[in-house]
Amino acid sequence: MTMMMTSTTTISSSSSIHHFSGRSCTTRSNNELRRRSKTNITINTKTNKIRNKIKAAAAEPPVLPYRVGHGFDLHRLESTAEFPELKLILGGIEVPHDRGCVAHSDGDVLLHCVVDAITGALGLPDIGQLFPDNDPKWKGQTSDVFIYEAIRLMKEAGYELGNIDCTLIAQRPKISPHKEKIKKNLAKLLDVHESVVNVKAKTHEKVDSLGENRSIACHTVVMLIKA
Ligand SMILES: [Zn+2]
Repeated sequence: MTMMMTSTTTISSSSSIHHFSGRSCTTRSNNELRRRSKTNITINTKTNKIRNKIKAAAAEPPVLPYRVGHGFDLHRLESTAEFPELKLILGGIEVPHDRGCVAHSDGDVLLHCVVDAITGALGLPDIGQLFPDNDPKWKGQTSDVFIYEAIRLMKEAGYELGNIDCTLIAQRPKISPHKEKIKKNLAKLLDVHESVVNVKAKTHEKVDSLGENRSIACHTVVMLIKA
């Protein structure tokens, strides 16, 4: 009896149950009709519960305990003999080289892709949208300001940096003599312990613009942890 009462309630609130209304059951026995109605009510009740859960989930974004982001950046290199104003800045450190980055800001390929990794993890726009290169405000700007803004956005979203792994790709100059200094400075800019920052470097086997020393690139993967 209780079951039937529940069933009656469900029938009145379920649109799909109308497929099993009396009109379509006139040719079936009453017992068959009851059996099918009960089965259908159970299915519809479950379906509605799942549907409501999905609707509730869609209405509110999930709060993830971890968020992962990837960043990539590449800059063209030109000869400093031809363009003496150009520099090679990596992770906020000037690295001596006979070629420099062509960019609207200081062209720090490492910091730029770190910003993209952090904002990417947060589901926010990329560095080009946040700091448009047609805005004179960012002309010649040192890239630490972009890092500070990414960190501010991260904290505003309630996350802190878990760890970060960067891979520089450059045929020349040799990055290894500068790696520790770059890593230390990156940890300082991000305000985290050095142990959660990693900076790797590799060549591009002398192929393509990277291998021909006409460009420099960097990949970064970051993990953010809910504070
Ligand atoms: Zn860049």
